[in-house]
Amino acid sequence: MEFRKNDLVTLEIEDCGVDGEGIGKTDGFTVFVKDAVIGDTIKAKIIKAKKHYGYGRLVEVIKPSPYRTKPRCAFARQCGGCQLQALSYDRQLVFKTNKVRGHLERIGGFTDIPMEPIIGMDEPYHYRNKAQFPVGRNKEGKIITGFYAGRTHTIIENRDCALGIPQNKEVLDRVISHMEKYNIEPYNEMTGQGLVRHILIRYGYFTKELMVCLILNGNKIPREELLVSSLREIHGMTSITINVNKKRNNVILGDKIRLLWGQDYITDKIGDISYQISPLSFYQVNPRQTQKLYAKALEYADLHGDETVWDLYCGIGTISLFLAQKAKFVRGVEIVPEAIENARENARINGITNTQFYVGKAEEVLPREYEKTGIYADVIVVDPPRKGCDEVLLQTMVEMQPERIVYVSCDSATLARDLKYLCQRGYELKKVCPVDQFGMTVHVETVCLLSKKL
Ligand code: SAH
Repeated sequence: MEFRKNDLVTLEIEDCGVDGEGIGKTDGFTVFVKDAVIGDTIKAKIIKAKKHYGYGRLVEVIKPSPYRTKPRCAFARQCGGCQLQALSYDRQLVFKTNKVRGHLERIGGFTDIPMEPIIGMDEPYHYRNKAQFPVGRNKEGKIITGFYAGRTHTIIENRDCALGIPQNKEVLDRVISHMEKYNIEPYNEMTGQGLVRHILIRYGYFTKELMVCLILNGNKIPREELLVSSLREIHGMTSITINVNKKRNNVILGDKIRLLWGQDYITDKIGDISYQISPLSFYQVNPRQTQKLYAKALEYADLHGDETVWDLYCGIGTISLFLAQKAKFVRGVEIVPEAIENARENARINGITNTQFYVGKAEEVLPREYEKTGIYADVIVVDPPRKGCDEVLLQTMVEMQPERIVYVSCDSATLARDLKYLCQRGYELKKVCPVDQFGMTVHVETVCLLSKKL
């Protein structure tokens, strides 16, 4: 049967797509419905129809799924940050396990995948140590901040995100009231005019230190000293900075930081190691799970004290310093210079002397060092951004022939692609362990162990 736009259909939701949308069928026609939960019987309105499939808008839940649960956030449906709040946390973990397995099978061509049980969170709300809030005006002209709605740049006003820390609201209230008082204009993406683009907040879970960084389309914010004295009243405030970004694009941060007050970094701890983190540096957003993630990576690396290790995409040296405690020597590579400054300082403050850090692209530094000095590795750890590893890097890794490769990934599709490459060239997939770093969202972290085939 053919369906058209605006048709109403009744569906039983049988599956969940990679973006968390419910999937149901009617008369051989597959419909993807955002906000429908696996196990629901729903009524949906078709909003886009192709020959064999279409997209629907959830109109009514006729019979709720046993896996349905009440979202804690009133904006869960509109906000682009969370996709799975209406699905029970247990089922979220099943969804994520299936997502990883599905990608490894379909994209990686793997069968009999050596999956370990997913490592879930004890408390899947209020876990994020970082948020970047866009600032704008609503239709009535009021200054607002919150999160983008899914797939758009419309701001859903919310200063108290259910995934974030309670201090977010206090920071946002003070910045917005300063803007109102001194007529400071939020940035407008359409016109490129206005000053305040984003407010970045980061929190050290174990040290309780708080960082605020204002991202401006300009060099200064009016009455800076008054804003600083207001923000300083918040408990734990350690770092107040400005980041200048005058470019008309979607990238949030510009590349320079100016210190307004305190230090230009906060410190946090993972296990026994302290880390200094600057606003430009990457740092895992879920500190409790990060500890479990790194412990798994360390377990897979299987170090006994005489290994030479490369940690590619090392950020502020988090994994490098974890590994350095058990290895002979660890070399880290990272593209952001400020992150490498943090990494060197982090080695120093923790009294770790068996590390060396390089600024540059992993796919340039590793081949260069390999060519120049014929460097060697027993173990290589990679932890790339979502787009995965560059092929030149994978090729060099294969040439270097480390005994083990530990792949830490935040995108299981590119992970599957890269594992396929490595496993076609002499490596064997030994273990896969998903770790939930991002409760309520469709994202999942995965750690994999590959060994050189005998
Ligand atoms: N392992 C670190 C960081 C992982 S995030 C941790 O767990 O904290 C990925 C990191 O890769 C980011 O710090 C990013 O700046 C860096 N990066 C992105 N592209 C890169 C490239 N081509 N070469 C090296 N590093 C890169």
